[in-house]
Amino acid sequence: MKTLEQLTFDNSYARLPEIFHSSHQPRGLKDQHLIHFNNDVANLLELDANESSRDDFVDIATGTKPLPGYEPIAMCYAGHQFGHLVHRLGDGRAIQLGEVLTDEGKRWDLQLKGAGQTLYSRGADGRAVLRSSVREYLCSAAMHGLGIGTSHALCLIGSNEVVYREKTEPGAMIMRVWPSNIRFGSFEYYYYQQRFDDLKLLADYTLENHFPDLQEAGNPYLELLKTVIKSTAELMVEWQAVGFAHGVMNTDNMSIHGITIDYGPFGFLDAYDPGFICNHSDHSGRYAFNMQPQIALFNLSCLAQAMLPLFDETPETSAELASAELKGFQAEFERLFLKKMCAKLGLQVHHEQDQQLVNTLLNAMADQKADYTLTLRALSHYKPGNSNEIIQYFSDPQGILAWLELYDLRLAKESLSDKDRHTNMLALNPKYILRNYIAENAIRKAEDEHDYAEIDRLMRVLATPFDEHPEHSDLTEKPPAWASGISISCSS
Ligand code: AMP
Ligand code: MG
Repeated sequence: MKTLEQLTFDNSYARLPEIFHSSHQPRGLKDQHLIHFNNDVANLLELDANESSRDDFVDIATGTKPLPGYEPIAMCYAGHQFGHLVHRLGDGRAIQLGEVLTDEGKRWDLQLKGAGQTLYSRGADGRAVLRSSVREYLCSAAMHGLGIGTSHALCLIGSNEVVYREKTEPGAMIMRVWPSNIRFGSFEYYYYQQRFDDLKLLADYTLENHFPDLQEAGNPYLELLKTVIKSTAELMVEWQAVGFAHGVMNTDNMSIHGITIDYGPFGFLDAYDPGFICNHSDHSGRYAFNMQPQIALFNLSCLAQAMLPLFDETPETSAELASAELKGFQAEFERLFLKKMCAKLGLQVHHEQDQQLVNTLLNAMADQKADYTLTLRALSHYKPGNSNEIIQYFSDPQGILAWLELYDLRLAKESLSDKDRHTNMLALNPKYILRNYIAENAIRKAEDEHDYAEIDRLMRVLATPFDEHPEHSDLTEKPPAWASGISISCSS
């Protein structure tokens, strides 16, 4: 394990031409201090976790005491926001410190969120508030614990910096750690400016640094699109299966790595509500929970459009090649989602009626507003004939009882014992998710009392959300009445 000084920096993105980024010194925060440090993320970097206790750790982490390897830049990108093209967005409040190469050969981009204004701030302050930083910090760890691809966060830094939103709030920073900051919107930026040479440069850079195996393919650019379509479909399966709503699926918030990025007004389902809208600024429900796979396809179409000049000499052939790839998305998503849901129900063999079985269960949950996570967790202990643990989540149990009869018949066609099925299911149906009220409790303690014990507890439990943690079972409770008043918007 290494000291901070021993980290090897190789800032490949900073070496791209100037149009790709702009240089900025991160601006520290008043009375900045370490709130939390994630040892698991330090491990990814091969960084000794004890480095977090150094007197100068916070200064180094916030870039106010730079390491020799830092080359701080903000990156430029465009994006479709709520369906509308914005020609230039970019990192308005995020600054990449540099890229770490590990001995294992992995490349990790270190990016500070909330480090002050950049060329892309568009008049905003370049800051992030404590509230949203805590949410992103916790959720990156929660998603990783759930086995879902995500950006990571090495540390959470608090301060007495005053930041103006609807009210004044304390400023904060997190240090993101991810393979790269390349978004669908990165490709759109060069495409809509008709800078096709730069578009090619970005694609070649992406292939060389992040998808080297694809370079040998006949048409590596098309192969790249295919890979992103596949990983995005897989990510949507994970989101839908765990009940995660992102909230702002603009193309600038979509990673070409098929991982979850840019945590803003996200939310996990409590009651199963397919039309759940977690973002209070999303009045039309464009990013409602059940819209996510379709929106992913829209976003992939935007990416494909931006990549067209790369595929072939003629626009017609390029468009045909891209369309053929996009066409497969919906069917692939549905196939993988069914497979995932069957596994969550402990079904190993495939049966014709499984799709209907899954739909009927989801309809029964939606009808009775049953808690999604708790119902599936209870099913992971279910023995045919014993419905007590499950029906407690249904005010009128008629629908679920009818479904359980079907489930009993279906289980009879499986060969696993109840015990083995339970083991499989408990590893796929989490007990703990980052419910809004749980994050809110941690935020209030941090904001009002500078008490970070709840953040620490959540970080420990959410890292292993499939384990029982009986001493923390209060975190499985359904949302209290006050939680319905929590309003999560884009303002952060
Ligand atoms: P988001 O909705 O958080 O993905 O942000 C959309 C765009 O607005 C990105 O280009 C952000 O960098 C930028 N942005 C959001 N909040 C701020 C802020 N406080 N200061 C500067 N830029 C911001
Ligand atoms: Mg964003």
